[in-house]
Amino acid sequence: MSDMSRYLSTTVKTIPPSGIRKFFDLVSQTEGVISLGVGEPDFVTPWHIREACWYSLEKGYTMYTSNSGLIELREEVAAYEKRKVGAEYDPAREILITVGVSEAVDIALRAMIEPGDEVLIPDPSYVSYAPGTCLAFGKAVPVPTYDADQYRMRADVLESCITPKSKILILTFPSNPTGAIMEKADLEAIAEVVKKHDLFVISDEIYSELTYNGKHCSIASLPGMRDRTLLLNGFSKAYAMTGWRIGYACGHPDIIAAMTKIHQYTIMCAPIMAQKAALEALRHGEEEMLKMVDNYNYRRRLLLKGFQEIGLECFEPQGAFYCFPSIKSTPFNSEDFCEKLLKEELVAVVPGNAFGNSGEGFIRCCYAASVKDLEEAIIRMGNFLNRHR
Ligand code: PLP
Repeated sequence: MSDMSRYLSTTVKTIPPSGIRKFFDLVSQTEGVISLGVGEPDFVTPWHIREACWYSLEKGYTMYTSNSGLIELREEVAAYEKRKVGAEYDPAREILITVGVSEAVDIALRAMIEPGDEVLIPDPSYVSYAPGTCLAFGKAVPVPTYDADQYRMRADVLESCITPKSKILILTFPSNPTGAIMEKADLEAIAEVVKKHDLFVISDEIYSELTYNGKHCSIASLPGMRDRTLLLNGFSKAYAMTGWRIGYACGHPDIIAAMTKIHQYTIMCAPIMAQKAALEALRHGEEEMLKMVDNYNYRRRLLLKGFQEIGLECFEPQGAFYCFPSIKSTPFNSEDFCEKLLKEELVAVVPGNAFGNSGEGFIRCCYAASVKDLEEAIIRMGNFLNRHR
């Protein structure tokens, strides 16, 4: 049997493979590459967090937890969100611990979408929202965001994308891939449109701790928005815990109950030892986390200064750990630029169009890399630009 296609679902067949993956297959085949490609902290999880997991195993915590997650972790999440964004959630009914924000996005979409419902997604944005929508039989509708607006979502652009089938708006700020943030006034304008058109917001706030100029603002904290918003967050980025796979969702009890139904039949619960580690991160991890954020900020400035020196135009990103410079001054499109830069100078960055059509003409550079690598990458990119401009 060689052709399996008749056994495969048409929906899955129509989903294109991730543009990032395709590019990294190329990177893995090339030696000596400096990678500004992977969107992952370069820190190891702080020791006290790893130790908490170690102790939990020693004490024999190896069993299932409640489907919703350890109640003490949900209580800590509630206290954290109250402190950080000012929204209050009942740990018993309004919080679900998930396997990363990835699972939370997936089950939220599956819990809410009816076939044909439209989901409004910032373009460019993180790669899982459109395929997740498609797998839930919804229709992904891009909402373009622009370099000239520092990639904030504009209320007028959002409104122009709304149809009678629009149901959910995904917000994801600070943004992957652009590093854009949304301030309170920006979110207030979006909230008005959401209320006017009776939409529901899924707000992926996984980079909420990584802001460099002022505090993160959540749309869930605005008047009338708490019950219209499902707030997602997790431990991967702020606490350098990508491999632990812990995230969470906070929202109206009906939405959380519907998500929990899918979660209990597919996942059962997030791993107990990782939940114990996440609990330690929330209870005692702030100091180490703030040090990491400071460190990213230093590297953000370094990369921006470097881009300025080699003449690569880039707006100043205020969040996450990405810069999104324009390559429109070169003769290449995003994919050709990245392929040539990799082949000629051994520097890996990600084509902006991997995150949506509005990313064409840009590249994503992750600055969670060593200072030495960032400095060398700038020299190599400068050489590349001198040769091709
Ligand atoms: N959301 C965004 C915006 C991301 O950038 C990522 C990972 O890069 C995720 C979610 C996935 O997070 P997790 O590791 O919690 O599944």
